[in-house]
Amino acid sequence: MNIKVFEKAEIHPKAIVLLRKLGNVFDESDNSSLVDAIVVRTYTKVTDEFLKKYPNVRFVVRVGVGLDTIDIAACKKRDIQIIHSPGSNANAVSELVVLQALLLKRKLFDQIDSLKKNTWRDRTKIGTEIAGNTIGIIGCGAIGQLVARKFAGFDTGKIIGFDPSFTDEELNNFSIVKTSLSEIYKTADIITLHVPLTPETRDMITLSEFKLMKKNCILINTSRGGIVNEQDLIQALHQKLIRGAALDVFENEPEINRQLLNLDNLILTPHIGALTEEAEEAMSVEAVEKFISVAA
Ligand code: NAD
Repeated sequence: MNIKVFEKAEIHPKAIVLLRKLGNVFDESDNSSLVDAIVVRTYTKVTDEFLKKYPNVRFVVRVGVGLDTIDIAACKKRDIQIIHSPGSNANAVSELVVLQALLLKRKLFDQIDSLKKNTWRDRTKIGTEIAGNTIGIIGCGAIGQLVARKFAGFDTGKIIGFDPSFTDEELNNFSIVKTSLSEIYKTADIITLHVPLTPETRDMITLSEFKLMKKNCILINTSRGGIVNEQDLIQALHQKLIRGAALDVFENEPEINRQLLNLDNLILTPHIGALTEEAEEAMSVEAVEKFISVAA
């Protein structure tokens, strides 16, 4: 079997060793189109056009979570099996979400900045706690469920969520009270997004949604760029419609909108939600093991 690996530097070496046991492994620089399987990470777009170059491909292995870069219909048309590693990075992302919430609520970066400028205990930058806060989770799959569990450990108030795939009872099992999107926008102190990027979720959060949110609300997006409209977020932060936001994902990566860099109530991280040593290994190895189990 010929396996072409894109973004190889981002695939864990243990997974490459496993792939080599299954067949010949090539990287992006190889020009051959005689390929049976393609392995991709975050940025390779597996479109209809892309697949035309590889007529023999039977498997697309997406190392990680989120199939927005894969044209699922184009794969189906060619009878190509898509394999990925759902849940493998859920813990890493959920820990980042809690970290971002705490940093924003305690105005930690502001206090560090004040100290560097020689201001001791800057009383203009006193933060708040997350205990007692209402948490709104949009998308209650693998990551959303872990986020709920972790916030509950911080004695937060009500944890409310919206996800059409789950019943009230199922969400109750994860300590989430099922509610409507508008209820989340109107009542949550912390809103965190864990939905895939689809035509339905693109621009889910625009100025109209920001206007519904509480003035002390913080919004966290670790799901995908494009789900929060960035221009509207900039406007919402300038107008202080919400207290702050954290973005790990952007409409354009890696060339992000530079206007975002000038807002002091916004925390930005370079799509590192899943970048922990544990998740890096799990994402690669789980996807490749699954691939081997169906292809060997
Ligand atoms: P998941 O598939 O387990 O959960 C996604 C949930 O979103 C599902 O339960 C689905 O029913 C729900 N959903 C879909 N459309 C919805 C809508 N319109 N409204 C409300 N809920 C909706 O996926 P997951 O592992 O929890 O990951 C969620 C997303 O996070 C991924 O799709 C990916 O885009 C993103 N992600 C980002 C990183 C990162 O590095 N920042 C890492 C992993 C995943």
